[in-house]
Amino acid sequence: MGEVVSALIEPTPTLESCRALLLDKAFQPLRAIGWRRAVCLDLSERVEVLEYYARVVHTPGASFPIPAVIRAPGWLHRMPRVIPPTRRNVLLRDGFRCCYCGREGSSAQLTIDHVMPRSRGGRTSWENVVTACAPCNRRKGDRTPEEAEMPLEPPPSVPNALQLGRRGMVMGDAPAEWRPYLRF
Ligand SMILES: [Zn+2]
Repeated sequence: MGEVVSALIEPTPTLESCRALLLDKAFQPLRAIGWRRAVCLDLSERVEVLEYYARVVHTPGASFPIPAVIRAPGWLHRMPRVIPPTRRNVLLRDGFRCCYCGREGSSAQLTIDHVMPRSRGGRTSWENVVTACAPCNRRKGDRTPEEAEMPLEPPPSVPNALQLGRRGMVMGDAPAEWRPYLRF
């Protein structure tokens, strides 16, 4: 009964939030992948799907269940992965902590600062974006850390994909379908 009630109350997840948890042969979590890739892998029949979401994608010709947990053979682990420096990924890399003053905050309280300001040609790359609290971001303004005398130590770098993925899974929004597989 409890389960039925919570199922009725919980909002239907958006399609984009239906990410699949990828496990290695030994059932160790590797990372999350998007639903399109998960459906393609499922259709290719080269992976083992352990859980599906209670949700289906419809196309004019067919319907596909969305995998929630996938166990993958070894070849999938070796594929290089490019992690984009999205807002969420930058917050995760920096541990939801301002890189200038060390203050912790929620996603809503923190901002993303371009080390070399965008107005001066600074790009959105892992080496040029850091988590900053709003006061530090305002104080720094359109200056570099040197000009503002706000040193960055250590300088921002590209994160390790596996650590970032695990941190993301632990820090919140893991779907119920993943929970039996997340033990660390
Ligand atoms: Zn700060």
